[in-house]
Amino acid sequence: DPVAPGVDHRRLADLLARERAAWVDARPRARALHERARASQLHGTPQHWIKQFPPPVPLVVDRAHGARLRDTDGHEYADFGLAGTAALWGHGHPAVVAALRDQLDRGAVTLWPHEDHVWVTEELHRRFGLPFWQFTVSASDANRFALLLARVVTGRRRVLVFHRAYHGSVEQTCAVLTPFGVAAPPGVEPNGVDVRETTKVVEFNDLPALERALEPRDVAAVLTEPVMTNGGAVIHPDPGFHAALRDLTHRTGTLLVVDETQTIPAGPAGCTGALGLSPDLVTMGKWLAGGVPAGAYGMTEPVAAVAARYTASGDGGLGSTLAGGALAVRAMRAVLGEVMTEPTYAHLDRLAAHYAGDVAAVIEHHGLPWHVGRLGGRVSYAFTPEPPRAAGALRPGAGSAVRQALWLYLANRGVVLSGMNGAALFSPLTEETDVDLHGELFGSVVAELVAR
Ligand code: PMP
Repeated sequence: DPVAPGVDHRRLADLLARERAAWVDARPRARALHERARASQLHGTPQHWIKQFPPPVPLVVDRAHGARLRDTDGHEYADFGLAGTAALWGHGHPAVVAALRDQLDRGAVTLWPHEDHVWVTEELHRRFGLPFWQFTVSASDANRFALLLARVVTGRRRVLVFHRAYHGSVEQTCAVLTPFGVAAPPGVEPNGVDVRETTKVVEFNDLPALERALEPRDVAAVLTEPVMTNGGAVIHPDPGFHAALRDLTHRTGTLLVVDETQTIPAGPAGCTGALGLSPDLVTMGKWLAGGVPAGAYGMTEPVAAVAARYTASGDGGLGSTLAGGALAVRAMRAVLGEVMTEPTYAHLDRLAAHYAGDVAAVIEHHGLPWHVGRLGGRVSYAFTPEPPRAAGALRPGAGSAVRQALWLYLANRGVVLSGMNGAALFSPLTEETDVDLHGELFGSVVAELVAR
């Protein structure tokens, strides 16, 4: 099978049918709720993309606690999805819960500064090396405002993103390479923003293409993940890639924006710290406030000088009322001060290495042309023999039936991976026995699927 190398078609179809039926049969309450939701939600789901996740009826959560989920039909799961880093520190981390309980008595939002704001921006400076910070409600907004400031600073309109990167619902970043040039990706209507006008796209790790794109000096900013995490794989930069990227952006007067939303499992200062990067702006969200909606972006002194002039009167088109709300900022203080510590990262690393080792052993045992990728406390596997250097090497949808089958088999037995792309994340509350359970189940499902 070209989209699922090593897998037997018949076995895959049988397993999928069986696991789908088992999932649906065991969840009468979820079924009823989903039916009810159809009358008031698109697809019967609160966010449209849940519809695209593997289970035919969504997992309806009754309680999320630690690194575990319990659904409305009473099933328990080890949660390796962790809300795609939004629950990276576990559900209800005691330090975050204590901080939030206390803050609810002190005010959830005031539109005035609290002491926590300055503690957090000082700490972000210390970790990421950028001196000036502003808050947002999401990572999408952090990227949106970072790109707007980059345009203001450079007087240029275009931005550059890497092929099939995801930076949130920011219109001009929803762009991919096609044989006919830059276009909106499948699933995004090419109506609102004409990305052919706003955006250049090159493959990650393709320095000659990057140089050609930046040389006309009409690009305000390159927005990139420091290590690509989307598309169901971990795509590492080639040796020297980041130095060359920084050099090319400097030489062409282009700002460099690094998005740490998914790469924070690399270390306490994300990849900016781990790889020693020096971007002009850094953006983040999701994990920052332990489950409370929040994002932030940091900038160098020269960017801040222009941004300060630009926003000296008027709102500049930046910000929102709840950005940096007291509740969110108190949670950030707990996350940065008490959770994102060296011992936490040691735990994440150890469990992720254990999990990746289990997957690698199964792949090797069956001689499958798959690989497993890791970035600190993040693991994902993809159906190519070698780790890809760029997202173009991963065919869209490749292995999607296998991903569904793996997801359902594991979830029917108490292990949940990311519904989005099958990646696994590890939290300080994740237990080793759950990693063992995943390893055993992964071994048995793959044994059932492989061609003999
Ligand atoms: N940046 C990256 C790298 C992301 O993966 C995402 C979301 N998956 C975002 C930004 C946007 O985050 P949000 O949807 O929370 O705004």
